[in-house]
Amino acid sequence: MTIRVWGYLDEYAAEREEILDAVDTVFGSGRLVLADSVRSFEEEFAARHGVRHCVAVDNGTNAVKLGLEALGVGPGDEVITVSNTAAPTVVAIAGAGATPVFVDVREDYLMDVSKVEAALTPRTRCLLPVHLYGQCVDMAPLEELAARHGLAVLEDCAQAHGARHHGRAAGTMGTAAAFSFYPTKVLGAYGDGGAVLTSDEETDRRLRRLRYYGMEERYYVTDLPAHNSRLDEVQAEILRRKLRRLDTYVTARREIARRYAEGLGDTDLVLPETAPGNDHVHYVYVVRHPRRDAIIEALRERDIELNISYPWPVHTMTGFAHLGYREGSLPVTERLAREIFSLPMYPSLTPDAQDRVVEALRDVLKTLT
Ligand SMILES: *Cc1c(COP(=O)(O)O)cnc(C)c1O
Repeated sequence: MTIRVWGYLDEYAAEREEILDAVDTVFGSGRLVLADSVRSFEEEFAARHGVRHCVAVDNGTNAVKLGLEALGVGPGDEVITVSNTAAPTVVAIAGAGATPVFVDVREDYLMDVSKVEAALTPRTRCLLPVHLYGQCVDMAPLEELAARHGLAVLEDCAQAHGARHHGRAAGTMGTAAAFSFYPTKVLGAYGDGGAVLTSDEETDRRLRRLRYYGMEERYYVTDLPAHNSRLDEVQAEILRRKLRRLDTYVTARREIARRYAEGLGDTDLVLPETAPGNDHVHYVYVVRHPRRDAIIEALRERDIELNISYPWPVHTMTGFAHLGYREGSLPVTERLAREIFSLPMYPSLTPDAQDRVVEALRDVLKTLT
């Protein structure tokens, strides 16, 4: 049987009653939009993080976009982020009308914070670190820069539910933090979902208007921009149930990562490293090798699916050509993108399936050298 890079059906089989009960709870409640389940999920997600407010929205891209808009970022403003991210991070910046500015990453794929100061201009309004693959960006120097220059910080936590950084939870370190609950994420819905965390009162109120037509009171628009970006009640109720299992999911991911490291540590694959002070949640298990494409092809022949997250650095895509970056402008990002690939990683991946992946990789690597 094919081993996929991600799958949820075994998890669904194990949690089916709970998921169907969540659906039935909402359908039988008599209120289908912005009601008890969304409100409860917001309270529970905020409480888990020890922040004051959570505003649930329809997806992670809009969480970033509304997060930026709520922080006052718009046309004419620059947002410093990385090109080595899921493209939606940058689509959201553009969606808010702002201009993305990229800094390079380190060998561990995370924003090279030492490059941020040189990227500041009088138009810089916000720093947007992406906690990529499940571990956090080095936040202390970013927070220091932001404080010194009066900038907002929006964390992109779409890949970092449950991650910690020097004891602090991802999503509690910025002015606000954006989450996605896309099904593959560490906390995933059965469809789309997202949320923004903040402890700032005014930011919370703006977020609630931004997702609800610009209204605080029904039928009366107070300000623009505004959207309809509500989280669905059914997804919220499912997320409430799954949030209680988040630590279990993370523990399972860590065990899978540990077994990969044990099984592949003596090969010439470059394995992921956890930066000092980070508790990694292993959203994706990214390795690299100069013969990446041959490895992916050889494993496909053995019915094992691998993936590349992500094959193209954002600044090289035609959709962002107007930003004026050229090949060579972010050398580490561009080099890593040519060699990375990811191994199957999801909580219900069985040890047997994982052994098959490790053995196939070891076999294939021998024939390559
Ligand atoms: C998934 C993801 C997003 C977008 O989330 P959606 O829910 O798919 O819109 C944004 N940023 C990062 C880093 C992501 O991984």
